Amino acid sequence: MSGSESGAPSGSGVQSGRLPSLISKSGADIRYSSYDVLVIGGGIAGLTVAVAAARMWNVGLITKGSLEETTTFFAQGGIAAAMGPWDSTALHLEDTIEAGDGLCDEQAVRVLVEEGPERVRELERLGTKFDRRAGKLILGSEGAHSVPRVVHAGGDATGSVVASALAQAIASGSSAELHEDEFVIDLLTDQGRCVGAVSLGEGGELTVTLARAVVLACGGAGQVFSNTTNPAVATGDGHAMAYRAGAVMRDMEFMQFHPTALHGSENPTLLLTEALRGEGAYLLDVHGERFMVGAHPRAELAPRDVVVRHMKVVMDRDDTDHVWLDARHLDSKFLRERFPTVYNGLKSRGFDLSTELIPIAPSSHYFIGGVITDLDGRTSIPGLFACGETASTGIHGANRLASNSLLEGLVFGERTVRAMTRDLESDTAPVVRKIKLDLAEEPRPGNDPEMVRLSRAKLGRIMSGLCGIVRSREGLDRASELLDGLTASLRPPGLTVEELELFNLLTVARLMIESARTREESRGVHLRSDFSERDDSHWKRHIVIRENLASNQPAVELSVLEG
Ligand SMILES: Cc1cc2nc3c(=O)[nH]c(=O)nc-3n(C[C@H](O)[C@H](O)[C@H](O)COP(=O)(O)OP(=O)(O)OC[C@H]3O[C@@H](n4cnc5c(N)ncnc54)[C@H](O)[C@@H]3O)c2cc1C
Repeated sequence: MSGSESGAPSGSGVQSGRLPSLISKSGADIRYSSYDVLVIGGGIAGLTVAVAAARMWNVGLITKGSLEETTTFFAQGGIAAAMGPWDSTALHLEDTIEAGDGLCDEQAVRVLVEEGPERVRELERLGTKFDRRAGKLILGSEGAHSVPRVVHAGGDATGSVVASALAQAIASGSSAELHEDEFVIDLLTDQGRCVGAVSLGEGGELTVTLARAVVLACGGAGQVFSNTTNPAVATGDGHAMAYRAGAVMRDMEFMQFHPTALHGSENPTLLLTEALRGEGAYLLDVHGERFMVGAHPRAELAPRDVVVRHMKVVMDRDDTDHVWLDARHLDSKFLRERFPTVYNGLKSRGFDLSTELIPIAPSSHYFIGGVITDLDGRTSIPGLFACGETASTGIHGANRLASNSLLEGLVFGERTVRAMTRDLESDTAPVVRKIKLDLAEEPRPGNDPEMVRLSRAKLGRIMSGLCGIVRSREGLDRASELLDGLTASLRPPGLTVEELELFNLLTVARLMIESARTREESRGVHLRSDFSERDDSHWKRHIVIRENLASNQPAVELSVLEG
């Protein structure tokens, strides 16, 4: 298939989660385009797929912002991989499984840790300059890693350095066609197979892109909460689209909160990388005491969920909304050079990392829940692959080990391309070249932009207050009622990115609440005040969730699988 426009639509049977009523016959300016492989998302996962797939296939890469507006670009600490002389893949496996609190898929973790080092070397061959001393990789320490194992670049600017190297590979020499500022509205399916997507361009034009394989790599959904380290684009679009298309989702109750985000009302808030604690920074309560000493053998470098739990206890005890990060005892030149992003980010906000205590509070950071995939990125929908934060590969269990997510994008991105290649080469299904869209008679009026803005802020407050770090049945029921009210106050979305994002956030929030209500125990990042213990006899299982397509309603089915 070619990457150019194809002819007028014809044929039938193609479905999308919400297109029929969203796009009207009058005034719809629709382009048609086709590729072998359509990649949705330009973070580490999408770029990895696009760079490798473009060696064999005709690839289109769509991102809703620029390649600099991704969570990947924000990443600070680095990439975990067993590359040190003191390290081994067995140790990395053990640490990941221990942090995952009983729910990791061991086979998936094995793939991650065994293939990780080669993917990191490949990034270096592509031009990424990881930090080295005397020619040797400098390996950082982070929470719950038993040895230093985190490669980094530009000090604490790993994400932007890696993303730039991958973007450069796309720009120079790759045949992948990049479409920035193009918002994918929905996936298209034909007789249960994913055949493409529909997107909205900056000027309001619509594009129907047909593809033999579609890869969802849309990142996370931290923006569901009012306090988050995630960029504004992290609105769970990939999760919501996959769910509407009928994909099976897993672990949607598990949102990881990062302990050390700058306390305040910024969205997103500045992250103070865990590597700071790896280099010796302390966590202090408002009385100046190191509250993690004695709370866990690794003190400040305990797993993230453990640190957040203790922070919450301490903040409740002291009736305060923050604690302190203390790096004053570390050498100030070292802090400036090793952590330029954090140091300068704080400086521009009036804080001096080397001489002042920094107020911090937990912020939503990494969404463990996602579209279930096998070890090769295949989802439950033929033709649809997922990788990166949008996917649920099973490697994180109930709590992600620090710096394993960039690695996940690399490892499973590459495996996705290999699997997709095998599938495309052996695929005998006829290629869908033309489709007929079922359009509405009249354009929908949508919602007032101010109403949309206020509703997004309200959603964030509801979720932070009632489905945040600590949950209870009562709070989750209330959150559900409030979401119903919020949804009822809105008209169906019109064709604007802000509205479509809001509705995706509402979908993800609904799935989070349903799953969090179901899991009646406390495990990893999921804390229930009414079920405060981990309960392996009932809950060493995953919660999976999908839309009931038969009823065509947003009703969900819940089922449990053995972990
Ligand atoms: C501040 C911060 C620091 C972090 N530091 C680390 C770290 O040191 N190490 C680590 O391993 N992890 C870290 N993480 C987590 C890690 O950065 C992310 O999990 C990872 O980058 C996700 O990559 P991704 O490719 O899945 O998604 P992203 O990088 O978020 O990319 C998503 C892409 O999808 C596109 N997209 C989304 N919706 C649509 C749509 N509707 N239409 C079109 N395009 C769409 C976006 O435009 C974007 O291009 C950090 C996270 C944050 C927030």
